[in-house]
Amino acid sequence: EIEIRGLHKAFGDNQVLRGIDLDIARGEVVCVIGPSGSGKSTLLRCVNLLEEPTAGQVFVGGTEVTDLDVDIDAVRRRIGMVFQQFNLFPHVSVTENLTLPQRRVLGRGKEQAAEVARRNLERVGLSDKAGAYPSQLSGGQQQRVAIARALSMGPEVMLFDEPTSALDPELVGDVLSVMRQLAAEGMTMMVVTHEMSFAREVADRVVFMDGGVIVEEGPAEQVVGDPQQPRTRDFLMRIL
Ligand code: ATP
Ligand code: MG
Repeated sequence: EIEIRGLHKAFGDNQVLRGIDLDIARGEVVCVIGPSGSGKSTLLRCVNLLEEPTAGQVFVGGTEVTDLDVDIDAVRRRIGMVFQQFNLFPHVSVTENLTLPQRRVLGRGKEQAAEVARRNLERVGLSDKAGAYPSQLSGGQQQRVAIARALSMGPEVMLFDEPTSALDPELVGDVLSVMRQLAAEGMTMMVVTHEMSFAREVADRVVFMDGGVIVEEGPAEQVVGDPQQPRTRDFLMRIL
């Protein structure tokens, strides 16, 4: 579903991604871990073209998104992204947060958009908050709205960049269980996270990045449970 080939990204002289090769199959969940500044966010942002790679190729569902002639908006419609900061529209209701992008970007009619919104709010357990404003919700609820909003666009793949890092500890679980459920439904997911228990339980594969390269990858029980590379071991010892 996602193929990354020889991906490089530099910001000026700063070589942030230095040759990333990664394949993610349909329905697979890959967790990306690594120290601050290792290029995890940049990697995700290159997949949906929030950053333009310096070299290399990215394919999503067989389409080369790094092709200069590609319709960037069409690509982004196929890729849902959830950030650490929820980025909800503050001045409209939860329902409108879900319906406005569908109407603007996908041209859906009012009723269809509302029906899709209703279904996705139910999916994240927030049917009762449809009329609320973001400021009336907890961080965890806001993040679940952000997930529902991304799902309302009908993406083929979902990218998550530390979706629980901004949350109070007691709110992390609800967001992770929504993600766990999405994974069980067969969504293709790339998740940057420090939640090692989530990675161990849900990820088909864990990728450890450092210095803009993939240092080690494999099943979670291997990479997290029995890391082979010293850099992976150091990192895990620091965070666990
Ligand atoms: P963290 O765990 O702190 O989120 P990360 O692994 O996600 O770190 P990135 O955000 O991808 O790391 O950043 C990697 C490097 O790229 C950093 O040195 C950062 O300063 C640099 N960088 C990221 N975005 C930009 C940008 N828009 N312009 C210039 N440099 C950038
Ligand atoms: Mg980051």
